[in-house]
Amino acid sequence: MISDRVLRELTNLLGPENIVTRRDDLIPYASDATHLSYMPDAVAFPGNAQDISRILVLANQEEFPVIPRGGGSGKSGGALPVRGGLVLSMDRFNRILLIDPINLIAKVETGVITSVLQEEVEKLDLFYPPDPASIKICTIGGNVAENAGGLRAVKYGVTRDYVLGMTAVLPTGEIIKAGVETAKGVVGYDLTRLLVGSEGTLAVITDVILRLIPKPASTRTMMALFHTVSAAVETVSEITRHKIIPTALELMDRLCIDCVRSELGMSLPPQCGALLLIEVDGDKALTKREAERIREICLQSGAMEFMAASRKREAEKLWEARRNVSAAVYKLRPDKVSEDVVVPRSRMAELSSFLDALGRKYNLSIAAYGHAGDGNIHVNILFDKNAPEETRKVDEVVRELFRKVLEAKGTISGEHGIGLTKAPYLDMEMSRPAIELMARIKLAFDPKGILNPGKIFPYRS
Ligand SMILES: Cc1cc2nc3c(=O)[nH]c(=O)nc-3n(C[C@H](O)[C@H](O)[C@H](O)COP(=O)(O)OP(=O)(O)OC[C@H]3O[C@@H](n4cnc5c(N)ncnc54)[C@H](O)[C@@H]3O)c2cc1C
Repeated sequence: MISDRVLRELTNLLGPENIVTRRDDLIPYASDATHLSYMPDAVAFPGNAQDISRILVLANQEEFPVIPRGGGSGKSGGALPVRGGLVLSMDRFNRILLIDPINLIAKVETGVITSVLQEEVEKLDLFYPPDPASIKICTIGGNVAENAGGLRAVKYGVTRDYVLGMTAVLPTGEIIKAGVETAKGVVGYDLTRLLVGSEGTLAVITDVILRLIPKPASTRTMMALFHTVSAAVETVSEITRHKIIPTALELMDRLCIDCVRSELGMSLPPQCGALLLIEVDGDKALTKREAERIREICLQSGAMEFMAASRKREAEKLWEARRNVSAAVYKLRPDKVSEDVVVPRSRMAELSSFLDALGRKYNLSIAAYGHAGDGNIHVNILFDKNAPEETRKVDEVVRELFRKVLEAKGTISGEHGIGLTKAPYLDMEMSRPAIELMARIKLAFDPKGILNPGKIFPYRS
């Protein structure tokens, strides 16, 4: 609990307009996409790195938690103030400082919404590929902190692949520059890579230098319908076996299709059990050739129907429906636990049969969708938290799922991070010495454990 005296100090430091303490004003900062809720004592809206530095120095002195927060769209509870304290909203870090078409970089404050950056660079025929489905609500800072992936990761990689450098405030208040503003650089340990994906536990990142690439000249969006998920994911393997790497290759199972059926804007046959959304990009001749080849592969692999979006609006509608699946599955049950496991592409069919059996064994609905091109499947375990016979089973279902994924040489999180919700399972994937090493790194950055405590580590903060 932050005392009134410390709150007064914070108010003096930031100005009364940049700190809120009224319960009603705190509520929006108590939750994120996990739908869990923890009340902070206060929310601060710093305006520059020096403000953050002063806050962190005070937090060390007075020992209160500070929790960085971007758009609050995180799916592992990373921005939740689990031990109260001060939520550090990055809302005012909303400037795009530079888009440089010669050096192909952008310099961006970390509170910038990802879609805003994408729109701005595309006006200059440039391209910032990382494309989380939450793009209209998440921030660049949240993407960097989670090493976000997204729809285009199959071809273009994840956020990490585009971060060249950054400014960050250490938990003890020092402001550091990490990485470079150039195309390459190898001076010292790669602190940039360490901070990417550090989930707000090692530093507050205030601006980043991002790599840009030329915008592809054309894109083509297609949709293929299948009787089963197994047939759909086997088609994904066939596409890559033919040396085609689409920009996006997204899967929805029957339950997910039912939830967004009306948004897709077309009637789908009732026997449709899975759907692939596929996009290719590049120059016109290439996209035409690849789209034709993909059509042949889908039909040869048993697609019931194959459609190509003929207009931009039609393609946007399909992607909009895909982006809404995460929220739409709440139509099935009031609560869900959403995992984002990854398995090798060649083992996705095995995972899909496993999920069917798992749902039957525990009598719970499991809806699966996600980035099939990466083998990254979002497994949504649906339940009602007011039904104890359902909630009781969820942890065991998650453990069985993770055991299967690890046995298949996969990983328990492809892009959502460990945060709060996956911390109890971290040691299923990482050995104790590896976790201890990470804990020592955390201690070196944050000796008093004030920055985002209670996250990542299963048996200590
Ligand atoms: C509908 C939906 C679809 C999604 N689709 C995808 C997807 O396709 N791919 C994907 O990877 N994720 C996806 N996500 C998850 C989420 O959007 C990403 O993890 C995103 O990167 C979080 O960004 P945010 O700004 O909302 O961060 P927040 O939720 O606010 O915070 C996430 C973490 O980042 C830390 N953090 C935030 N800003 C900073 C900063 N400046 N410095 C240090 N730490 C910071 C926080 O402390 C927290 O630990 C989806 C979420 C939703 C709700």
